[in-house]
Amino acid sequence: MTKARIPSIAQLLYKGALCRIEGKEKAVYLTFDDGPIPEATPLVLDILKQYNAKATFFCVGDNVRKHPAIYQRIMNEGHSVGNHTYNHVDGWKTPINEYIENVEKCATLVDSKLFRPPYGRIGLKQFNNLKKKYKIVLWDLLSMDYDPVLGAEDCFKIVEKKHQKWVNYRVS
Ligand SMILES: [Zn+2]
Repeated sequence: MTKARIPSIAQLLYKGALCRIEGKEKAVYLTFDDGPIPEATPLVLDILKQYNAKATFFCVGDNVRKHPAIYQRIMNEGHSVGNHTYNHVDGWKTPINEYIENVEKCATLVDSKLFRPPYGRIGLKQFNNLKKKYKIVLWDLLSMDYDPVLGAEDCFKIVEKKHQKWVNYRVS
């Protein structure tokens, strides 16, 4: 028997936000945030190509402005893109008008109906405003690959452990 899933705090607060796609098929939805940047994005694209895998890149508008060729490569190789604000602004520290403007500024460069708030920090008013226009995408598994102290093996273990928690949780 599969237990009903207890919603996370984020899902209770942010109704309609996407954290996970439930389905019969075994599938993972890979997302990469904060690019496009020359230090990481081309490498990620090369690896995805090697495995014939597609992903969604939540792009920072200012990085798209600085690195349009890498952004174009993401598009050319059939991946999806999402809005991640123009300056990677923190929703908890930014007044609503300024926040929405920053999202819209990113939208002039990133044509997408997907939005992911940087740091996952978004006020309820900001959320309710943006969800009229965007699908707000959060996540359920975080590899913590942004932590410079962690290596690839550590990140893999983190994902494996969190995934196992999900499996144990869902199956009784
Ligand atoms: Zn980010």
